[in-house]
Amino acid sequence: MTIYDMIGIGFGPSNMAIAIALEESLTKTHPSRDPHDILNMVFIEQQQEFAWHPHMLLKDADMQISYMKDLATPRNPCSRYSFINYIHSQGRFDQFLNLKSFNPSRIEFNDYLGWAARQLGPWVASGEQVIEVSPINESHHVTLLKVVTRNAKGERKERLARNLIASIGGTPKIPDFCTQAIQDPRIFHSHHYLQKIRENSQAQRIAVIGAGQSAAEIFMDLASHQDKNVELIARTYAPKPADETPFVNKIFNKEFVEHIYHLEPDQRLAFLQEFRHANYACIDVDLLNAMNRLLYEQQVQGKERLNLCLRHQVQAITASPDHIELRLHNLNTGTSVLRRYDAVILATGYERDLHHALLKPLQPYMDDFSTDRFYRLKTRSELKPTIFVLGSNETTHGLSDTLLSLTAVRAGEVAHVLLNQLLNQEIQAA
Ligand SMILES: Cc1cc2nc3c(=O)[nH]c(=O)nc-3n(C[C@H](O)[C@H](O)[C@H](O)COP(=O)(O)OP(=O)(O)OC[C@H]3O[C@@H](n4cnc5c(N)ncnc54)[C@H](O)[C@@H]3O)c2cc1C
Repeated sequence: MTIYDMIGIGFGPSNMAIAIALEESLTKTHPSRDPHDILNMVFIEQQQEFAWHPHMLLKDADMQISYMKDLATPRNPCSRYSFINYIHSQGRFDQFLNLKSFNPSRIEFNDYLGWAARQLGPWVASGEQVIEVSPINESHHVTLLKVVTRNAKGERKERLARNLIASIGGTPKIPDFCTQAIQDPRIFHSHHYLQKIRENSQAQRIAVIGAGQSAAEIFMDLASHQDKNVELIARTYAPKPADETPFVNKIFNKEFVEHIYHLEPDQRLAFLQEFRHANYACIDVDLLNAMNRLLYEQQVQGKERLNLCLRHQVQAITASPDHIELRLHNLNTGTSVLRRYDAVILATGYERDLHHALLKPLQPYMDDFSTDRFYRLKTRSELKPTIFVLGSNETTHGLSDTLLSLTAVRAGEVAHVLLNQLLNQEIQAA
């Protein structure tokens, strides 16, 4: 069986940026060789075709980040994988500049990522889901990792790796009141929105639960369908604006990772709480204004199709053949009401611990799933492979950890550490 120098799990922006950083680093050190001949690695992606959050590619949604924070530019402004190079190669350079905007549409950014993914194709195995990573022992040491995958036909495949990078993103967070009801096709998470709303096209009374960007985007998307009554349900007194002001935005700079990482755990927690609304349960200001205008226009027209049901918490959900009933607790009055809908959408965010299940067989070699400054799992010395885990280190590395802001910079750090590690492994094997 082939032994890979490195296997990556997932091929979203994080691992794409790492592939680019590795390719560029190898091209620099070995200009006359093809990087694919030097490094034996594969990124395993469960999707058959590249797509970035495909069911949230809403037509009016924009990126919440500058196009310059693409897969490579903050690390290497000369990279051929930059957004600018993509725009140029598509013949849209002048037109894009004329938009005078830092924020491309999400649809365009997805196209950019797909363009980069196609160029990195030789390093990717698509349509396979990694289902387990387990240790291979050799005289009291774990020298290799066995990575097991399954494809859509249910076929299993095993590969061996000297090192691993898991960048698998988030999984939909399903609130406790909904763990059973989520089986009903009329109740679904924002992660599946475009697909599921198509399947529920007859639904007229729709509840959107949540107070963040996805909830607001879905509210506005549904509001554009004149046949739908839409209610956004949230605990908050008022939807909060995403703070993108310059001083707050500094928390997404690379220096901040260094700062946060070296704080005491209680200081980190206080920091995350103070700046929570720079990323969570907050809505882009333009979108907030658009929502407000829409609600005002509805008032002018004397209609009651759209509603914000604030200071309400969902207590229970019951699905019956002709409707879904929510029991809503009014946090101001302490009373409860029952409301009926045809579909319920959970815009309730993501969890970031799927890697715990995938890496469970390795648990005897670590205390917990914490990582060091360079995203390496802190494992015991008997486990020789290096395992990087990206996108689940917010509590130690700060709020930028799940976002694109530092994707390129993180990728550069990981590529650098990995290449040194491979050099070290080669020296030891020699
Ligand atoms: C709707 C939406 C919009 C967003 N917009 C922004 C934005 O504007 N700006 C910003 O900074 N951040 C944004 N984010 C945050 C987002 O997390 C990052 O943009 C980015 O997607 C993180 O990249 P990633 O590669 O770490 O994770 P992901 O993009 O989630 O990619 C993970 C990949 O791993 C694959 N995978 C998962 N498990 C397995 C497995 N077991 N086997 C094989 N493959 C697997 C998945 O299919 C996926 O392709 C947004 C998030 C969402 C949900």
